[in-house]
Amino acid sequence: MTAAAYLDYNASAPIRPEARAALCRALELTGNASSVHGFGRAARREIEDAREAVAALVGARPARVVFTAGGTEANNTALAGTGRSRLVVSAGEHQSVLSAAPGAARVPLGADGVIDLDRLSSLLAEDGPSALVSVMLANNETGVIQPVSEVAARARARGALVHCDAVQAIGKVPVEMPALGVDLMSVSAHKLGGPQGVGALVVAEGIELAPLLRGGGQERRRRAGTENVAGIAGFGAAATAAARDMASGGPSAIAALRDELERRVRAIAPEAIIFGVGAPRLPNTSCIALPGLTAEIQVMALDLAGVAVGAGAACSSGKVAPSHVLRAMGASAAEAASAIRVSLGWASRPEDVERFIAAWSGLYKTWAGGRAGARTSSAA
Ligand code: PLP
Repeated sequence: MTAAAYLDYNASAPIRPEARAALCRALELTGNASSVHGFGRAARREIEDAREAVAALVGARPARVVFTAGGTEANNTALAGTGRSRLVVSAGEHQSVLSAAPGAARVPLGADGVIDLDRLSSLLAEDGPSALVSVMLANNETGVIQPVSEVAARARARGALVHCDAVQAIGKVPVEMPALGVDLMSVSAHKLGGPQGVGALVVAEGIELAPLLRGGGQERRRRAGTENVAGIAGFGAAATAAARDMASGGPSAIAALRDELERRVRAIAPEAIIFGVGAPRLPNTSCIALPGLTAEIQVMALDLAGVAVGAGAACSSGKVAPSHVLRAMGASAAEAASAIRVSLGWASRPEDVERFIAAWSGLYKTWAGGRAGARTSSAA
């Protein structure tokens, strides 16, 4: 039996060796990065090196990177910090955007998971100059990539600002913030192989941002609180490693594994639904539904077989809740309740796909056999 297969990178990726090494090195440091003595300056150097690495990953200037305690804080800061009173979000946003913008207008998704751009334009026709639009770059459940540069062009034409939650995209596909044309962008370390509890909000030139957390002058007065030096150092190292992997063909190797997994799922269960296949998607994500077989049962059976996958919007609570993303794409309640998310990443190997397929096809055969048996006995 091979080692367990971890296929839940969109929930959290395994830490990269480079990130672990940087984190451990920085943990050995003493001192506060705001102190002017040598100890403080050494801590400061770790932070500034990481800032350069994170900035390079998204094509921004280092001074524009504001470190936070993760993607959730970055999203909350962005939505609260621009002073714009009218919020417009896509219906497929992560809960950390939806909950931070309870009164926001929601732009619907098409069946392929892509935002309805015409609806966005009509929502911005009035009040554009008082609006902040928040649209994610890639969806955490389906991997569907939104046309963010088009969103930004339409928003800009109406005087609106744009925030992009790029938490699931960075490190998986190349991301250039200036080319996207957005004003604010959220990123998180643990989705690309850095430590949990650290992220950043990248703020475009000329954008004023009020801090969410107050009480200190850190991060150029944009985020108060003593910096998490070790976490930030780990983030920087993970960002550099992710950039290196992307430059050497990592995304296409991961896409090949994911495509093979989907090909075999279809061969085993032609009735399986794979969400978002008609749209541009992240190379690593597959959201598969088998109506009638709940996600909970699939996740538990796969776990017993040593395969870890996600279900529903599981990254927030560990509970399997019906996915608002799939419902927004027009999925029925039964389809949404049966969707599992398989997500690969930097350490995924063909053996992981083999193990998933062996376990999932065994589960499918048992389930399909049980259904056929139930039909025969009810007909008798
Ligand atoms: N945005 C998206 C799209 C996510 O998938 C997540 C994490 O699940 C977050 C934001 C929150 O990031 P963090 O876990 O760093 O708070």
